[in-house]
Amino acid sequence: MLTGIHFLLTYTCNFECDHCFLYCSPGTTGTFTLDQVNTTLDEAGKTGTINSVFFEGGEPFLYFPLLKESLALAKAAGFKTGVVTNAYPATSVNDAKLWLAPLQEAGLDFLSISNDEFHYGDAGDTPAGKALKAAEALGINTSPICIDRPQPVDNSAVEKDKGAPVTGGGPRFRGRAAEKLVKGLPLRPWESLNQCPDEDLTTPSRVHVDPFGHVHLCQGISMGNMWDTPLSELAAGYRPHSHPVVAPLVRGGPAELAKELGITPDKGYARGYVDECHLCYTVRKASLGRFPELLAPAQVYGTG
Ligand code: SF4
Repeated sequence: MLTGIHFLLTYTCNFECDHCFLYCSPGTTGTFTLDQVNTTLDEAGKTGTINSVFFEGGEPFLYFPLLKESLALAKAAGFKTGVVTNAYPATSVNDAKLWLAPLQEAGLDFLSISNDEFHYGDAGDTPAGKALKAAEALGINTSPICIDRPQPVDNSAVEKDKGAPVTGGGPRFRGRAAEKLVKGLPLRPWESLNQCPDEDLTTPSRVHVDPFGHVHLCQGISMGNMWDTPLSELAAGYRPHSHPVVAPLVRGGPAELAKELGITPDKGYARGYVDECHLCYTVRKASLGRFPELLAPAQVYGTG
């Protein structure tokens, strides 16, 4: 049952991180208008099941007035609210309070703050750390998101899949991460990548929505376009087993998707991939022209 939506409020970001599963950067375009936020919240209410709304990006603090108003609208409509940010404006704990207090007043329930090497290198006293302290001082529920750089892991002592190459660390290899982070990592045979590890594609509990109208089941796999078909109707009419990308993924994971779309070694594609998402993303990127409405937008595939 769909209970949450995450707004990709903007694809623009002050950073350009290697681990981003989108292609966000200072030059990436695509930002919700306030009218679009309003329409989407109305539609979320009509589903009767969605009860939580997050705002993320890109970096939503880049559009602070829009973020604040969107939060207030979501709260007034009765949703639980959250924001995901890298907290770049937090030059000190006191200054971070200047940014966070208005969001708290607007109805912010939960704040996730990215605080890791990808965003801030090995700096100890990061803006994110200051924002975490400020949020705690204000009484805002908060938690850090810390993603490690991926490393090969020795799993020779593990009975299950003994000896199979494994990569440790946080990122999933899709979006820019599939291009920037896979070099030198151990590869697994493509046929073995036969399950989606992260998403319940059959009965999703949350989707991401973007300013172009895409309703993402996983980043870059669209349920449909909510500017063409209202979100509540899209959600009610979702049939995973007739979605041409989701159906193979449900039947047999990225390996089945690769087989059905013909992105296999006998057609010149690689035999090994770091993980399921690396194969899934590679297959999808090679198939963009076949499903332009469902595999989109360019901001996810780095093709814009
Ligand atoms: S396997 Fe594909 S659909 Fe599943 S989480 Fe990875 S990228 Fe998303």
